[in-house]
Amino acid sequence: MSEHRIETKCVQGGYTPGNGEPRQIPIIQSTTFKYDTSEDMGKLFDLEASGYFYSRLQNPTCDTVAAKICEMEGGSAAMLLSSGQAASFFATFNICENGGHIVSSSAIYGGTYNLFAVTMKKMGISCTFVDPDCTEEELEAAFTPETKLVFGETIANPALKVLDIEKFANAAHKHGVPLIIDNTFATPVHCRPIEWGADIVTHSTTKYMDGHGAAVGGCIVDSGKFDWMKYADKYPGLCTPDDSYHGITYAEKFGKEGAFITKATAQLMRDLGTTPSPQSAFILNLGLESLHVRIKRHYENALAVAKFLKNNDKISWVNFSGLEGDKYYELAKKYMPDGTCGVISFGVKGGRKAAEKFMKALKLIAIETHVADARSCCLHPANSTHRQMTEEELIAAGVPSDLVRLSCGLENSADLIDDICQALNTIY
Ligand SMILES: *Cc1c(COP(=O)(O)O)cnc(C)c1O
Repeated sequence: MSEHRIETKCVQGGYTPGNGEPRQIPIIQSTTFKYDTSEDMGKLFDLEASGYFYSRLQNPTCDTVAAKICEMEGGSAAMLLSSGQAASFFATFNICENGGHIVSSSAIYGGTYNLFAVTMKKMGISCTFVDPDCTEEELEAAFTPETKLVFGETIANPALKVLDIEKFANAAHKHGVPLIIDNTFATPVHCRPIEWGADIVTHSTTKYMDGHGAAVGGCIVDSGKFDWMKYADKYPGLCTPDDSYHGITYAEKFGKEGAFITKATAQLMRDLGTTPSPQSAFILNLGLESLHVRIKRHYENALAVAKFLKNNDKISWVNFSGLEGDKYYELAKKYMPDGTCGVISFGVKGGRKAAEKFMKALKLIAIETHVADARSCCLHPANSTHRQMTEEELIAAGVPSDLVRLSCGLENSADLIDDICQALNTIY
């Protein structure tokens, strides 16, 4: 399948039924799997043979869908998780433990910001946040001898800043650490970060991949390119024997291509158990089958709405990297030549109060803590997802308090514009 184009991978990747087998992927709704002998099962526990024994660790339906996303991103191995948050945590904690340090773009999802700044800090992991638009020197200055990884988002949610992936990849590799990219907003249809030097890609599949607001989920894809053994001192979890797994050394036994995902599955999923359900994986796969068609429409609708807002005198500013003249237009053209995503942000003249009034007056576009749904929705981050942040932190994260985030769905764009128009008319 790997020689096919992205659209074909969306539809048929990960699963090729044999003669007389189901055309759609089977939902293996079973917690456990039966074996004839204890020896057979023992081999699985020792990671000597591959197979299934308990769905907390691995399930065939989930693996089929992970294999599809792996093909779409051009990776070597992948796993599904129960949420995007679980994916961000596993992808980082898999190689960064107590005493470790993360260099992260400051323009990231609010939940990930909290994960790094608060929760992982309690685990003894520190994080330096850098402005994604920083110079190479500023980026350089963020590294410490304990830095284990660099993290950023292709298109930041909700700041919508486009990351210069190559700049971040070069800095990471110069310091012998991998770059992890959260590619949720761009999706592999519009950007494949591994082609630009990313080593690991994460997703909240809850967003465009599912696309219908039906199932929360996450995914991690490993490029298989990072040479852990070359930096064995830095990554003892991958490069020294795991006593909790019969002394297996993941990087030796599974190589560059398999070590990262095998450890995250065998160790982190075993102990932390943020397992996706086979039913949710099936729903995710339905979304993936049409992702390439949907994401284009999301983008076209957003572009139409952004152009309307740009020319409206009740709107103070518009952020949408697809819009000519936008600060991130050039970067978006480089990394996402076929389009970005359906999310735009803007400020309503009159600031925080006006933004709130405007949102209340919307009829078709709903207020939701969600994006990337077939149905258009909007959010005022300063009052919801980012409300734990100070004014300074909000600005550093690229989310000023007057910012309205609008996720354009798959409706007719003229209806979206009509709804925005009537809402603006009610406040002025
Ligand atoms: C939503 C989101 C997450 C978190 O994903 P959940 O599935 O909600 O846990 C992480 N990163 C980005 C960019 C997101 O939009």
